[in-house]
Amino acid sequence: MPPTVTLTPRGVERAKTGHLWIYRSDLADAQAEGGDVVQVMGPRGRPVGEAFYSDRSQIALRLITRGTDRIADEALWRTRLANALRFRESLAIDATAYRLVHGESDLLPSLIVDRYGDYLVMQTLSQTTDRLLPVWTRLLVDLLKPAGILVRNDVRVRKLEGLDSKVEVVHGSVPERVEVRDGRVRYEADLFAGQKTGLFLDQRENREAAARYAHGRLLDCFSYHGGFALALAPHCTETIAIDSSEDAVEHIRANAARNGITHVDARALNVFDELREFDRGDERFDTIVLDPPAFAKNRAALPNALAGYKEINLRALRLLAPGGILVTCTCSHHVDEATFGEVVYSAALDAQVQVSIIEKRMQARDHPVLLSVPETYYLKCLIVRKL
Ligand code: SAH
Repeated sequence: MPPTVTLTPRGVERAKTGHLWIYRSDLADAQAEGGDVVQVMGPRGRPVGEAFYSDRSQIALRLITRGTDRIADEALWRTRLANALRFRESLAIDATAYRLVHGESDLLPSLIVDRYGDYLVMQTLSQTTDRLLPVWTRLLVDLLKPAGILVRNDVRVRKLEGLDSKVEVVHGSVPERVEVRDGRVRYEADLFAGQKTGLFLDQRENREAAARYAHGRLLDCFSYHGGFALALAPHCTETIAIDSSEDAVEHIRANAARNGITHVDARALNVFDELREFDRGDERFDTIVLDPPAFAKNRAALPNALAGYKEINLRALRLLAPGGILVTCTCSHHVDEATFGEVVYSAALDAQVQVSIIEKRMQARDHPVLLSVPETYYLKCLIVRKL
């Protein structure tokens, strides 16, 4: 008997929506071990498909195939990886760092692979992708011949799977710092310790878009290693980049120097305090970027998160000169597009300004959204003009 999980009728309905996740409460029975690739059955034994099974997470199943055929094997992983890689290649991304595999959206749930030049950074975020780590490694080496593969499994979500936190090189060797290019900007990425897998690759196209409107005095809030600041600075007369982390600010300075950009003033400060200070001091900016961390890590945190988003957007709209541009983002999937629009609208009302939306954007194309899994649509970015 292959490992088998039986769903309740509600679980079957859930699977019919095309969503890949089935929660533990929708399981009737599990004859499987955590980390198994399982056959999924309906209550009367009708096959639903195959899935990754976790015996710890609330997300008990991640569906990988549908119907009766039992096809989940190494050949299928190879096909899915190859498809994901071919798609990224077709995008002709003007950068040497980008996402190659975006989990669910590439039908490889809970597997992340990013490219940083000749190196790959991988995350295995569920019991099954973790168990299959040697397989992913072998297939990626075969398909891409990378100089090294680093596993960045120091991610909180792995706790929910009962998996430990670790960072390890599983193929070749990976240097402490890797130089990558994103458009015209060169960065030194710290793959071992940087946030995410080193850089925020999902904002690449939003930086490009924002650069088309950026002008005058720029304020880049939550700057990290200067992603927006460095992409927009060439279009601006003055650039202030703020991040609360001293280490991030050091990186902004080093990256600015690396790119010969001299007019970036990087400050280690709390954005909430600093926006208030600027407001008090009657400062004005022509371009402001707000790219905060996810304020809403879960649904319970939503009211506070919305208050936080509103506060920074309100202050930014007040600080903008007429004709100024606000690039405002949220990367909480709990804050949907409509809700985010309402936050900005209500900030504009309180600031007593009229704004127009110039662009509604999302995460970059190498991080596509799987329509049946709304959770994969996490990053929203509005480019707004103050009238
Ligand atoms: N804009 C960046 C990514 C931002 S990630 C890019 O394009 O690459 C969010 C950043 O916000 C992190 O670097 C974190 O250190 C910083 N941060 C979090 N809370 C903050 C606060 N209250 N004030 C300033 N920075 C903050």
